[in-house]
Amino acid sequence: MILNNGLLLLLLVLAIAAGWMLARSGLRLSSGEQAQLPSQYYRGFNFLLDGEEEGAVDAFTEALAVNEETLDTHIALGSVLRKRGEVDRAIRIHQSLLARPQLTEVQLHQSHLELARDFIAAGLYDRAEKLLLDLIAQSSDLRQTARRHLLEVHEAQRDWQSAVLVAEALIDVSKDESAAGNQGQAAHQLRSHYLCEQAETALDSGDARGARLLFEDALRDNVEELRALMGLVRLALSEQDTEQALQQFELIINSGRASAPDLLALLAEICSGQSDPTLQLNCLRRYYAKQPSSLLARALAQQVAIHEGKEAAQAFLRSTLEDYPSASIAASLLLGETVATSSGPERNILAAFADADAGYRCGHCGFSGKSRHWRCPGCRHWDSIHYLGAFLEQPNG
Ligand SMILES: [Zn+2]
Repeated sequence: MILNNGLLLLLLVLAIAAGWMLARSGLRLSSGEQAQLPSQYYRGFNFLLDGEEEGAVDAFTEALAVNEETLDTHIALGSVLRKRGEVDRAIRIHQSLLARPQLTEVQLHQSHLELARDFIAAGLYDRAEKLLLDLIAQSSDLRQTARRHLLEVHEAQRDWQSAVLVAEALIDVSKDESAAGNQGQAAHQLRSHYLCEQAETALDSGDARGARLLFEDALRDNVEELRALMGLVRLALSEQDTEQALQQFELIINSGRASAPDLLALLAEICSGQSDPTLQLNCLRRYYAKQPSSLLARALAQQVAIHEGKEAAQAFLRSTLEDYPSASIAASLLLGETVATSSGPERNILAAFADADAGYRCGHCGFSGKSRHWRCPGCRHWDSIHYLGAFLEQPNG
């Protein structure tokens, strides 16, 4: 069996630590203990040499008594096992730590936190929640870290109301203290998404009033929060209030958030309900002026073609190339001109170039997909996925 490098390294550390502790404490042990512990130690080596990592972990763990000096080694071992997916064994190690009476209060809290992490990894959310609530009440050092993990529990259970309360507590602390323990995404951003989750459910179930209150609350800490603004546009559209929908959409344009196909679809839906046929064209002109990108240039060119003709659309696209070099716009121009009547292979190649920047990607972990996720399926970050063609091109010169 080929051992995982991390586990092998840890096993060696365990072996050295156990050997050192045995040598140090050998004189203090009774004759029975002296006979028992070295045998576990040598058994561990035998398992290691035979490639039986499970047996080696157990033997070295037993040989290495839990005390102030070895606690970190036990915790590190449990953590490696958890990351390898061996959650049951991690739980066993951390539970055995909690059974030791000689640990200090701080060490007990550390072990509690590790066990809560194990329970989360195992999907045992009720047990994790109980441990984390105890830690929040008892440990001022680990309180914020425990709250972050409690958010994981509520997110996994889609308990958005409880998640909002925990996020509020994190926001309150971040106002009073330094950033200590407030690692991770900003709590006010998380709070906004938890509220939007509830608002979207309310909107889907026809509770427009409830949805409005929640979306507006989601804008409390950041009036330009995209998800909440998009929600208010949808809410206005559901009430056939296209004027209000347009006002909310202008806030999105002015917020500077990168455009994306779902935003352009929303704009098209708003404009389809208006009597002014050039509304979409004019909105896109304002949008493009604020945010020149290949996505908006091509959307605007479509509207220019409808209202002013194909030549005007092509002239517009060409003019954008003078300021912003874009392979996708150049390819779409060539597609429209030189190979419009061709069905040759060059058409497919140009079409691939024109769509080269289509798709969404997470700026945090690189996950890519064809649609927006408010929470990245790869790294679980909120609102870290953006449309590739929405980024501003570098100006010429
Ligand atoms: Zn991600």
